[in-house]
Amino acid sequence: MRKEQYPVLASFERNKEGMLSAWCPFCQCWHHHSAGEGHRIAHCTDNKSPFHDGGYVLKKVKLP
Ligand SMILES: [Zn+2]
Repeated sequence: MRKEQYPVLASFERNKEGMLSAWCPFCQCWHHHSAGEGHRIAHCTDNKSPFHDGGYVLKKVKLP
């Protein structure tokens, strides 16, 4: 059985609690999530977004 692969979405901490925000290239808007990296259900408002099919993985990136 194939291991499921989710798309990775770069995200950054938007506050000191470590809550993550990610720019979605399909919705062309920010998706705000709770703290911590990992798999999330897509917050997409665009019904045609491929992220609706299984969600995505948040990967934290540091801003300079
Ligand atoms: Zn989206």
